[in-house]
Amino acid sequence: MPNPNNVAVVAEQFHGSLQQITLELIGAARFLSEKLGTGVSCFLLGHEISKLAEGLIHHGADEVIVVDDPQLKEYATLTYRRAVISILEHLGTSPPIVLMGSTTIGRDLAPRIAAYLETGLTADCTEFDIGDYEHKGKADPSKTGTFKNILYAIRPSFGESLKARIIGPWKNPQMATARIGVMQALPLDALRKGAVQRVSVNFNQEDLRVKVLKTVRDISVSVNLTGAKVIVSGGYGLGGPDGFEVVKDLASVFKHSVVGASRRAVDSGWMGDSHQVGQTGKTVRPDIYIALGISGAIQHRVGMANSKLIIAVNKDADAPIFKFAHYGIVGDLYQAAPLLKNALIKMAREKSLR
Ligand code: FAD
Repeated sequence: MPNPNNVAVVAEQFHGSLQQITLELIGAARFLSEKLGTGVSCFLLGHEISKLAEGLIHHGADEVIVVDDPQLKEYATLTYRRAVISILEHLGTSPPIVLMGSTTIGRDLAPRIAAYLETGLTADCTEFDIGDYEHKGKADPSKTGTFKNILYAIRPSFGESLKARIIGPWKNPQMATARIGVMQALPLDALRKGAVQRVSVNFNQEDLRVKVLKTVRDISVSVNLTGAKVIVSGGYGLGGPDGFEVVKDLASVFKHSVVGASRRAVDSGWMGDSHQVGQTGKTVRPDIYIALGISGAIQHRVGMANSKLIIAVNKDADAPIFKFAHYGIVGDLYQAAPLLKNALIKMAREKSLR
């Protein structure tokens, strides 16, 4: 019987491949579970996906609860909601914490589950922790008291200028979604052992109201920003779509680089939205992030500030990006980018960076 006291992660897979966010969530769940003195359970949903359970264990899960059902072949809100609810009912006691990714699926599914369970949900978290809380509020005396070992769901707030610690200790599960690329996945341990259990679900008519007839995936625009080691991004300072040729040219110095963009460049139609970095784009943490003609607005910053090395080129010496870039070049990007490229090539030759 699975342990209902474990920290739970709703795993995400796409066409039979585990999504990186799931591995990141397991890393976060392990951190929380060690503080709670419990374990990590993953809920794995889909069709013909049972083989993925082992991968979840190798990445840090202690238990995997699998619902493998043809109705879950394609993601649909109601069927997936039913599957998660069925697992929770199977556990009998609600887990203390349920984590999901702040992905397209997670953003759709998490609120549905939270609303069904009438519990709280903190979206888009960048950190998690465990702590205590004393509630002295007088408005509702039934809620006062000291709560031990509750989830601190931490996320930027007030236009990303503050970190808010959000709690909901009154009811389990305490639910939260995490931003992609922020939590640390654990290294794979192929010798790790864990338990796998199957749960079956009785879908009712209400769950099957939506039928997915066809899924069309536009692979031509997909770009792996979150896993990239080097990102060269362009902003509105490029002055037009052709400016991205300079961005691509600079990116070509590195073997596995990816082109990123600010939202203003994306909104201007100069680059596809899968390239957008920032609050409403991707959160990235490459080894090197080069920003060309990007002002460094807070909504861009939150998506890339964890990059190990940030190099910014901007003609405005007071641009906000210079406040958090490790290296800044004040000047016209069209003059600076070729010089930077040559300098990088020289460095690569000298230090075998390539
Ligand atoms: P600008 O702010 O216009 O900056 C252009 C910069 O280029 C300027 O600093 C200028 O000095 C410099 N420049 C101009 N010409 C040159 C040149 N020849 N050489 C060198 N430098 C030059 N933004 C994101 O990026 N990602 C997001 O996910 C995101 N989400 C948002 C969510 C919300 C709810 C909101 C309200 C906004 C969001 N934004 C996001 C928009 C954000 O606030 C900024 O508007 C945007 O990041 C600005 O893009 P930019 O830096 O390319 O353009």
